[in-house]
Amino acid sequence: MPTSNKRDYYEVLGLSRDASEEQIKKAYRTLAKKYHPDLNKDADAPEKFKEVQEAYEVLSDPQKRSTYDQYGFAGLDDQGFNFNFNGFGSAADFGFGDIFDSIFGGGMGSMGRGRSQSANGPRKGEDSYLQMRISFMDAINGLSKTISLDVEEQCPDCLGSGARSKDDIKVCPTCKGTGRVVRSTNMFGMAMQSQSTCPDCRGTGKKIVKPCAKCHGSGYVRKKVEVDLTIPAGIQSGQQLRIAGKGNKGYNGGPNGDLYVEIIVDQDKHFVRDGDDILIEVPLSAVDATLGCKIDVPTVYGDVELTIPAGTQPGQKFRLRGKGVKNIRSGYYGDQYVIIDVVIPSSLTREEKDLYGKLKSVESNGKKNIFEKFKNTFK
Ligand SMILES: [Zn+2]
Ligand SMILES: [Zn+2]
Repeated sequence: MPTSNKRDYYEVLGLSRDASEEQIKKAYRTLAKKYHPDLNKDADAPEKFKEVQEAYEVLSDPQKRSTYDQYGFAGLDDQGFNFNFNGFGSAADFGFGDIFDSIFGGGMGSMGRGRSQSANGPRKGEDSYLQMRISFMDAINGLSKTISLDVEEQCPDCLGSGARSKDDIKVCPTCKGTGRVVRSTNMFGMAMQSQSTCPDCRGTGKKIVKPCAKCHGSGYVRKKVEVDLTIPAGIQSGQQLRIAGKGNKGYNGGPNGDLYVEIIVDQDKHFVRDGDDILIEVPLSAVDATLGCKIDVPTVYGDVELTIPAGTQPGQKFRLRGKGVKNIRSGYYGDQYVIIDVVIPSSLTREEKDLYGKLKSVESNGKKNIFEKFKNTFK
């Protein structure tokens, strides 16, 4: 691809330049699936797929991304960083194996097989997606839930053939069972041959005379199934769970696709999550902050006593070790940070007013007035 014709990588992924790693990953997953040539038969899908892969390869690598941000495509060419795609199978060589395993379950290997085999070979079905909203606390503690799904399964009557009986399946007369038709055209005096999927049997190579009564010839039936979903403690909003075999039906006896459940975590009124850490803002009076005190701070695991030292400043942070979220991979707990918000009273009782007045006179006698000290630095 000549450099000048390329679209901006951020534009390709539909992101702004300050997109987070997580956003880049998410956009890539969505677009790679959208344009994958196994799933998208548009003529320009392979080109778009390559474009998306290339953009992801650069933007997911912090060093390449920063080079691209500073110097554009030219910077990447200078590093001898060139893309050379020769078929989708080779994409695994570029380090896409991991992400494809997590998107497509079977990984690149199964796609390669799908391509080289004839159209009537068994193929895995498409993946399906759903979103699930859970509370902040359920994300901290984990959750088991049974969900009810509509799944496409092989028809038990015809075992997926779609025909009433074996004798009702005939070889397609148009393609003679190959599933493909060859068309010859004459271009600039040269005979050109192009192959395409047989329009009569849609590539199956078979013609059904009498369709199965149960599935009306489709070969599959929709069925309600219950699935037990285990959401691990520490899950973050936007993370996906894969449930193998509960996606759309496979083709020609191939296995079902997988179901991906994207977890959306609700926000809490007080606790704010920052990765594995939790932040909470706690109000304190000016007196408590000045003299120090002991407080019982709420954590997601119950109250914890915290000693506030004398002279604590507004915005000062205290760490409660291990009171954060359990990391989904390592199993280690993050910390909770307590941020002090000093609250200045907006109205005072007569007694309080008297006491503040006394404090003020002590400050002026001892020349401790903070503002005057500040003003003196201007002289
Ligand atoms: Zn045919
Ligand atoms: Zn059937």
